[in-house]
Formats: sequence, C-alpha cells, structure tokens
Amino acid sequence: MIRFNKPYMTGKELLYIAQAHNNSVLAGNGEFTKKCEQWLTTRTGVVKSIITHSCTGALEMAALLADLQPGDEVIMPSYTFVSTANAVVLRGAIPVFVDIRPDTLNIDEKLIEQAITKQTKAIVPVHYAGVSCEMDTIMDIATRHNLWVIEDAAQGVMSTYKGKALGSIGHFGAYSFHETKNIISGEGGALLVRDAAYANQAEIVWEKGTDRSQFFRGEVDKYTWQTVGSSFLPGEVTTAFLWAQMEEAETITKGRLNIWNRYHMAFSDLEDNGLCRRPIIPNECQHNAHMYYLLLPSAEARDATLSKLKQNGVGAIFHYIPLHSSPGGMRYTKMSGQLIHTDNLSRCIVRLPLWYGMTEEMIEQVISTTQNVLKDVVSKV
Ligand SMILES: *Cc1c(COP(=O)(O)O)cnc(C)c1O
Repeated sequence: MIRFNKPYMTGKELLYIAQAHNNSVLAGNGEFTKKCEQWLTTRTGVVKSIITHSCTGALEMAALLADLQPGDEVIMPSYTFVSTANAVVLRGAIPVFVDIRPDTLNIDEKLIEQAITKQTKAIVPVHYAGVSCEMDTIMDIATRHNLWVIEDAAQGVMSTYKGKALGSIGHFGAYSFHETKNIISGEGGALLVRDAAYANQAEIVWEKGTDRSQFFRGEVDKYTWQTVGSSFLPGEVTTAFLWAQMEEAETITKGRLNIWNRYHMAFSDLEDNGLCRRPIIPNECQHNAHMYYLLLPSAEARDATLSKLKQNGVGAIFHYIPLHSSPGGMRYTKMSGQLIHTDNLSRCIVRLPLWYGMTEEMIEQVISTTQNVLKDVVSKV
C-alpha cells in the first residue's frame, strides 16, 4: 500500500535535538525557538512570529488577542478542520459559516458581506490546500466593517498571494507543523503577528499571560500576571526538530511541487473526458503542493473510487465532514445561507498520496492506478 502520508526527515533532526540537550534548555523560548521564529519573520515579513505547540494553539491565541467575547460572531467556511471553529467557540463566540467557492474550495468572498451583523467581529479565511483565499477582497471588507482577519494558514507555509506570504496578510496568521503538513515537528505551529501594536500582547498571551519574555530581555525587572493567557509554547526538543525542517523548506516544497505537477499533467485527460475535475490555482496564488485532490462527478463515484484505489494499493482518503453537519457544529454554530458547494464538493473529493520522498515507481503507480480506476468506476455509476 502506498501510504497517504509519510513524514519526511531531513537527517539533521536528531543532531539539533542533541544540541538542545547539550544546551540544557528544554523548556520553551530557547535558542531553537528563537531561530525558528527569526526564520519565519524573515520569510513572511511580519513584525513578530511566535512558535506554538500547534496551529490549534495559534488560532486560540488569535481569538484571545482579538478579545472575542460571548455572542460575538466570526465568519468562516464550514469546509475546514475543527480547530478553526473551536478556537472561537472556546471564547463563547459563534462561528458563522458561509459557502465555499467551487473552484478553490476556499471561502466565497462574495458571500461574506451578507453574513455580517452587528455582532460580527472577525473573518477567518482558511487557505485550503495551501492555495490562497481572495485576500484583497477579504481585507477590503474587513477594513470597511472594522473586523479582524485571522488567517488559518495551517496548510499554507511557503505559499503566497500576490507575492505575500500566507498568514502575513491579515492581522494574525496561524501555521501548522503537524506531521501531516509540509514542514513538520510532530505537533507544532506558529502565530504570525502583522502589526507592532500586538507584538507584546501576543508574547504575553503565549507565556501564560505573563510578561516573562520582556523580563528575559531585561525590559522589566520582574515578571507578573498581566492578562488572560495560557501555555502555548513547545519545548526546545520540538523546535530543534523544526529547525532542521526549516533549513530544508525550499527543497521540500520543490519536491512536493514536482509530484503535484506530475499528477496534474497526468490527469488532464481524465478531466477532458469528464471523469473528474482537477484543482484550480488562481493566477495570483503560488501554492506549496500541500495536497493533490480530484473532484469526482458524484458521491457514489467518489466512494467507489476510494475503495477501488485502496484495493489496488493506493492510500487515498477524503475529508472534511463539513462542520455545520457535525454534532459540535449543530450545537455551537450558525449558517449564513445555504452551503450548497460545501455539501456537494465535500462528498466528491478524493485526496491522493503526496509526500516528499515518494519514489518514481510510487508516483507512476498512483497515476496509472488512478487513471484505470476512474475510467472503470465513473463509467459505471
Ligand atoms: C492541520 C490544520 C489545523 C490544525 O493544525 P494543528 O497543528 O494540528 O493544530 C487547523 N486548520 C487547518 C485548516 C488545518 O489543516
């Protein structure tokens, strides 16, 4: 079976972990944490980057920094990972779902304005598959309505929109370094802070609501409880691992893009013959090959394709059960209008194995098996 995902190791991870061990600093906010933060800040052009234990944690930090209150509304897609919504619900605020665009499966920016009410405080665009949402339009709406923009860029490390790093465009951006993402540390994430006005506050929220970071820089003579925060830091063993990955981020991204492009060319015939639809990348977006998916013509064709692919040794999978149709979603969220594309497309998606380190034979096998299965299955259902 060709695995859906296999974490790539650069070979330097254990060396850097040994260094962290030798430094005798294993808690968070040490040398490797600072290296990783500097790398992100330089790459993305934000004022401040903060390494967290997860993207989930980074989203929770953003919800705290935006001072979301019970009853506040936050606009987001339903077609996303549960953490996008949970961060908001933890503050007592209400996720309000709008439909996605059929081309990118990203939030449909044209539907955002009609979802805005007096309670609306923020918009959370999710950059699905590392392909950017229509950020110029979203930032314009946010400015006119005085809303926060928190980018869920979990899948978007190394991707850009009009040359700008994803996660650096809104007020806050959240990255994931979970082992299923492109650049990894097992569990891990980062919060990007665009404006200097929130940099100190972000550090305080990160360090359990204290000014410990300022204390270590000698800016205050003791550290004390300042505001509501939590422990969002990873330990140095994790950031030592992450540093090895950041050093190779360009190579990993290029390697993934090669596989993505191979798939994309190979499946163009299938699309021409109406057997599936391939991903669409808008011109202003440079993506990071986080994911390769195909959209099948129907839910029946999708289910049949998935099981046939697995029978033939290709570890294909699907996601997401849209949040609005999950038990948690029904309890904690609202919908704005019908979520037609969310419902339809989430039932038609097949995600193919894509990871740096796949051999030539594996890539060929995924391609030929997928071609055969689709020709067989779609003509029958
Ligand atoms: C992976 C992912 C997350 C959560 O990331 P963690 O680092 O596992 O907390 C959040 N949002 C989206 C869109 C994701 O893909």
